[in-house]
Amino acid sequence: MTADQSRPPLPAGIDTEIVLVGGGLSGTLAANVLGRAGYQVTLIDRYAVFPREFRVEKIAGDQIEKLRRIGLLDRLAGAAVAFDEIVNIRKGRLLDRTHARHYGIFYDDLVNAMRAALPDNVRFIAGRVNALEAGAERQRVSILGQGDVTARLLVLATGMGDILKRDLGIERRFVHQRQSLTFGFNLRPAGAGAFRHSALTYYGERTSDGIDYLNLFPAADVTRANLFVFRDHRDPWVKALREQPKETLIDTLPGLVKAFGDFEVMDKVESWLTDITVAENCVKDGVVLIGDAYQTSCPAAGTGVSRLLTDVERLCKAHVPQWLASPGMAAAKIAAFYGDPAKLAMDAHGLQLADFRRRLTIENDLRWRARRHLHFSRRRIMHGINRLSPGFAARLRGLKRPRLEAAT
Ligand SMILES: Cc1cc2nc3c(=O)[nH]c(=O)nc-3n(C[C@H](O)[C@H](O)[C@H](O)COP(=O)(O)OP(=O)(O)OC[C@H]3O[C@@H](n4cnc5c(N)ncnc54)[C@H](O)[C@@H]3O)c2cc1C
Repeated sequence: MTADQSRPPLPAGIDTEIVLVGGGLSGTLAANVLGRAGYQVTLIDRYAVFPREFRVEKIAGDQIEKLRRIGLLDRLAGAAVAFDEIVNIRKGRLLDRTHARHYGIFYDDLVNAMRAALPDNVRFIAGRVNALEAGAERQRVSILGQGDVTARLLVLATGMGDILKRDLGIERRFVHQRQSLTFGFNLRPAGAGAFRHSALTYYGERTSDGIDYLNLFPAADVTRANLFVFRDHRDPWVKALREQPKETLIDTLPGLVKAFGDFEVMDKVESWLTDITVAENCVKDGVVLIGDAYQTSCPAAGTGVSRLLTDVERLCKAHVPQWLASPGMAAAKIAAFYGDPAKLAMDAHGLQLADFRRRLTIENDLRWRARRHLHFSRRRIMHGINRLSPGFAARLRGLKRPRLEAAT
């Protein structure tokens, strides 16, 4: 990796095959896959070293298989804390135990581990991009105080911010404004003891609390807490959680200390208010959007990384090779990516699961009360069957279930 950290002017007119703006998780993964395929790639991000930012902190499920397919699972495994069992609790009682590989990792550690894997034919530039020009033949990216990069294809992986996209006439449509609140903080055991479990999920107890679930899991050298909430951000409960996290948690989730052990909150509570948005008017000559730059995800649904991995895999393995094999980069080529069936299905699933988690948590009409009851009863019953007859439980799990009910 060539990290130009001191920001001197670039050599006049850097020309590359593919320029990626945004070196968060999507841009960095895409640069890795494209670089390994032999393309000349330039990756630009405003941070030479990705800073501590509150984003995904647990990688699991299909995300692991997708990282394996693009050859980067080892990099995750080398930087994260692996754990294989989660104890799931609802209303103070054991719901079930989940057995599958999970990785706990802070987002900056994750992105920086993936940046460390960039091959030599990926040029990394630290700088703020302040203007873009896209066309059917060549793209131009201007970096503040450093000059321009030109390329055949521009990949925008700039996350949720939309200032640069607007330069190109790309807008964003709000699917759900202020859809959810996510909190993150570090815990340690109170006193000399240890926690009862290395990972635990505690589901909300009352719809009026708006709590979907609290995830407790190991990351770096701490126990990390991710709390997913559907509640107004101006609610006094939110202020109370920030100012008195332990008292507020115990008050809202009374069985937590018994299930996990007494705890102290080590430092400040981080929080994030999510808008669910989708890019509009994005089929343009020369430029393609991936990750959060295209569509944002509900953190409680845990689909952000699954979505961006689908984007990276489909773009880099199926579409870019075809696009670069013939002259030009007209919008008709780019449209094939946005119409890719695997991408469409993953994006639609992300939106459906966001809506499902919110309704399952807070809706109180008869239909959702029944659905919630069924959702959790099914898990409790399956856990009972599993204890008596693991083989029979495995056969039952193999039966087709609605995809939303199967998640989280
Ligand atoms: C609190 C929270 C919790 C989440 N939890 C989960 C979870 O449990 N599971 C899950 O799957 N997903 C989760 N997500 C979603 C997931 O984190 C995101 O989908 C993912 O991080 C998006 O990555 P990205 O690369 O698209 O965007 P980002 O990581 O935001 O990267 C964008 C990059 O673009 C760069 N950039 C922007 N503008 C410029 C510019 N002008 N010039 C140069 N560089 C620029 C930025 O510096 C940044 O590095 C969560 C999100 C949040 C906010």
